[in-house]
Amino acid sequence: MARVGFVGLGIMGAPMCANVLAKGHDVTVYNRSREKMAPLIAKGAEGASSVEELVRQSEIVITMLSDPTAVWEVIAETAGVLSSLGPGKTYIDMSTVSPESSREIAVRVHKTGADFLEAPVLGSRKPATEGNLIILAGGNPDVAKRMEPLLLTMGSKVVYVGEVGLAAHMKLIINQMMGTLLCVFSEAALTGMAAGIPAEKILDVIESSVVGCQAIRIKGKDMLGERAFAVHFPLKHALKDMRLAVLAGDAQGIPTPVTAAAYQLFSIAKERGYAEHDSSAVLRALTDK
Ligand code: NAP
Repeated sequence: MARVGFVGLGIMGAPMCANVLAKGHDVTVYNRSREKMAPLIAKGAEGASSVEELVRQSEIVITMLSDPTAVWEVIAETAGVLSSLGPGKTYIDMSTVSPESSREIAVRVHKTGADFLEAPVLGSRKPATEGNLIILAGGNPDVAKRMEPLLLTMGSKVVYVGEVGLAAHMKLIINQMMGTLLCVFSEAALTGMAAGIPAEKILDVIESSVVGCQAIRIKGKDMLGERAFAVHFPLKHALKDMRLAVLAGDAQGIPTPVTAAAYQLFSIAKERGYAEHDSSAVLRALTDK
């Protein structure tokens, strides 16, 4: 059993960390808002008073943070992750970040003599709680192999995508498709409802058709009905991912006009106050009703 340090106990990090703990690892936790550490400490984790302390007492350090800025703040500030990493330690970043950021992190981590793995995840709050995430690994294949048993405490499958940066890319592909799908579903379904087709009928026919899919199965009923937008994947993170996907397209010389339009809709929904709601609240960019 490994000594694992877990930083970032948000919607995803808290249940992921609980699963690592449940499999018998020695876990130390740290979170910027300290109150989120209490439920994990109650389950047997040790609470660290700083990131530096956490890294010092861990063999493997995992971060699950909002975005590239948050990751850099946690790793590169004085007394951050990098200051205490060294040979024999492994740092795994499971946040959704840009491929460039991940590659830069790898360079900085390797300079300390430690190993690095990027391991962004597919799946939201429920699979995170059930330990059913799909985990995308990018980096040295030997490190990925060595970390697989630990990753499988949080997920049901680990896919080795390739060198560092490629798992981050793969994760963006999924979120880019999910974000644009939510936008076009909102436009199409609202138009159909305005024309007089009942919401249930729209959902039923979509489900029976070639475009029926899990995303609409999970989010469609709420989007066309109650519109509670209970948060699983915060809209602010979907907005971040649409931006990263546009930048990834730019970096590869591939135009991303559809993603750019979706980015605008997510921005409007954020401006209308839906940043902390579920990403499905992008529908609010199109209607107040
Ligand atoms: P979240 O609930 O917003 O949690 C974000 C975490 O990052 C919190 O622990 C937060 O600390 C911490 N954080 C943010 N800025 C920070 C900073 N400057 N310094 C230190 N800590 C900071 O987000 P989440 O939904 O768990 O998502 C985490 C990551 O997983 C994101 O990259 C997201 O895109 C990705 N992801 C999310 C889902 C999903 O469905 N939710 C699915 C797959 C991947 P505080 O508690 O102090 O704010």
